[in-house]
Amino acid sequence: MSVSKDAPIFDPVAFRLERREAEIIDKARQFGARVLAPRAAKHDREATFPIENFHDMHPEGLLGICVPERDGGQGASFRTYCLAAAELGRYCGATALSWNMHVCSTLWTGALADDLEMSAEDRKAHTARRSKHYKRIVGEGAIYSQPFSEGGAAAAGAAAFGTEAKPVDGGFLVSGKKIFASLSGAADYYGILCTERSEGDAASRRNTLYLAVPAKAEGVSVVGDWDPLGMRGTVSRTLLLKDVFVTEDEMLMPRGVYFRAATSWPHMFLTLSPTYMGLAQAAYDFTVSYLRGELPGTPPVKRRMFPTKQIAVAEMRIMLEQTKALWFQAVSEARAEPTKEQVLRAYAAQFTVMENANALAAKAIRTCGGQAMLKNLALERIYRDSRCGSLMLPWTAEICLDRIGKEALYEVGETDA
Ligand SMILES: Cc1cc2nc3c(=O)[nH]c(=O)nc-3n(C[C@H](O)[C@H](O)[C@H](O)COP(=O)(O)OP(=O)(O)OC[C@H]3O[C@@H](n4cnc5c(N)ncnc54)[C@H](O)[C@@H]3O)c2cc1C
Repeated sequence: MSVSKDAPIFDPVAFRLERREAEIIDKARQFGARVLAPRAAKHDREATFPIENFHDMHPEGLLGICVPERDGGQGASFRTYCLAAAELGRYCGATALSWNMHVCSTLWTGALADDLEMSAEDRKAHTARRSKHYKRIVGEGAIYSQPFSEGGAAAAGAAAFGTEAKPVDGGFLVSGKKIFASLSGAADYYGILCTERSEGDAASRRNTLYLAVPAKAEGVSVVGDWDPLGMRGTVSRTLLLKDVFVTEDEMLMPRGVYFRAATSWPHMFLTLSPTYMGLAQAAYDFTVSYLRGELPGTPPVKRRMFPTKQIAVAEMRIMLEQTKALWFQAVSEARAEPTKEQVLRAYAAQFTVMENANALAAKAIRTCGGQAMLKNLALERIYRDSRCGSLMLPWTAEICLDRIGKEALYEVGETDA
């Protein structure tokens, strides 16, 4: 099946993948190696968005990976998407992370929404509306993004979003500010979360709306610069919305359904982790290839004969296998109404991937040595990109620790009073 020389991160036989699933993931790996890898350094250096990667994804069916088959997509499940995204993350972290923002607009409205309770009326309206979004993506190659963060407690799920949608005739008037809006200036639609609020009503998380705001709509602007440590190609600038009129058709989920998704399908927040699973694999692959004297663009000098290198690689391999095993289990058991054990495992998987990706990259630099961290090689980019994972809301490394500790020690409703 493959022409890329890199083995799959998750071997289809060993991990018992279904045939169709393995084909989709294989295609992603080939695409990553062939298309993303050669362009990654330039976008990282210049902090520019790799729009040509997204244009090239369209004919490959990658923009519609999670669009249901009846709507012309590939109908990938949550797990299939996660494994495919990990393969892209190996070759360009910024593209994989941005692709995640796009794909979630189809995964959450597709397979995930199919798992959620909805009235027959809501289901009918949702099916009709999402078909319009899918048509744009599958037919025209439209790109969606996912700017939720606002710099307050909302992105962590602790408060209502400050961006508000005021109901008006035929739709909403949306105003607010989103920070770290990956794909800003590049996406055709910004899939924002906001609070529906009429004059005099109190803001409530239950009234969260998930809306696709057309990038060209009046009142939409992108401001500020973007010069971060890592994930530079995501171009996550600030998005301002000022009385933007958005029609009802742009609702990505019916009223109340995002809140239900966030509470009953918590693995939806694990979707930032595949990119970093790929970066963890990339750091390990780099080290083995470098120490064997086989890394393209470097002299064929072998360094593998030193016992210290062998021990370091052994430790890296163990960390990688631990990361893969836990993460594979967590993405395989994602579903509506997971058990407490499954939710704790999902937090643990997120924490492990995000922390270990950077730990592996740091160890790779120490093990390979000075020449390996020069900017003409991928490792220093992997190191910087991987540093960003544990900062990403709503499941930052700190929040995962916080929740595991509390939820392991207290049952719902228990107090010490
Ligand atoms: C490369 C990159 C791309 C991104 N792209 C997007 C995007 O496309 N869309 C998007 O919506 N966001 C995106 N983000 C934003 C990201 O999810 C965060 O919102 C952003 O990094 C701001 O985080 P902060 O650390 O400044 O947050 P703060 O709110 O200042 O939080 C600081 C830290 O405090 C802790 N904390 C916060 N709230 C709680 C709480 N309730 N309980 C316990 N601890 C808490 C957390 O550990 C958090 O890291 C991106 C971030 C990066 C780095």
